[in-house]
Amino acid sequence: MSIKHSLFQRSNSACELCGSDLNLTIYEIPPVTTATEENTILACETCQSQINDPSAIDTNHWRCLNDSMWNPLPAVQVMAWRQLKQLDSESWAQDLLDMLYLEPDVQQWAEANRSDEDDDRAPSKDSNGTVLQAGDSVTLIKDLDVKGAGFTAKRGTMVKNIALTDDPEHIEGRVNGTRIVLLTKFLKKA
Ligand SMILES: [Zn+2]
Repeated sequence: MSIKHSLFQRSNSACELCGSDLNLTIYEIPPVTTATEENTILACETCQSQINDPSAIDTNHWRCLNDSMWNPLPAVQVMAWRQLKQLDSESWAQDLLDMLYLEPDVQQWAEANRSDEDDDRAPSKDSNGTVLQAGDSVTLIKDLDVKGAGFTAKRGTMVKNIALTDDPEHIEGRVNGTRIVLLTKFLKKA
């Protein structure tokens, strides 16, 4: 049976992200060398065009991830995670990301498409020299004044699901519901 055939069968002939039944084609989840049922999803043209061109993203379209991110298939989970990451300036998308737990190998896969550009980047390390990865939880080892937000992030505060930045000494995370940049030297991996 061809991949296309099995994908149509497993998805009931619907886009595995938004449920549309229009213009469905196979989407190969980068980085793919050999397409299999495991590293492809069936996706509609609307979803695929926005995945391929993040500048054309229609935020409301992706509210569909509210349902599809619970799909048991790792391939669908990976694409849901990646699209939510694109949208993480939206609070609803950030909330979904916080709820979306991926198995460690799936998490690694979800982040794999960004590794190419990040290859030369030095790893982010916490105050103990432990390497920090996107999605890790950290705790603050001292009180930090959050400039511009008007509050102090207390020592011991846990920050979940951190994101890495271009600067290895800076990570991003949410404290008191506000997304802020934190210096890694004031953090400890939880
Ligand atoms: Zn779709």
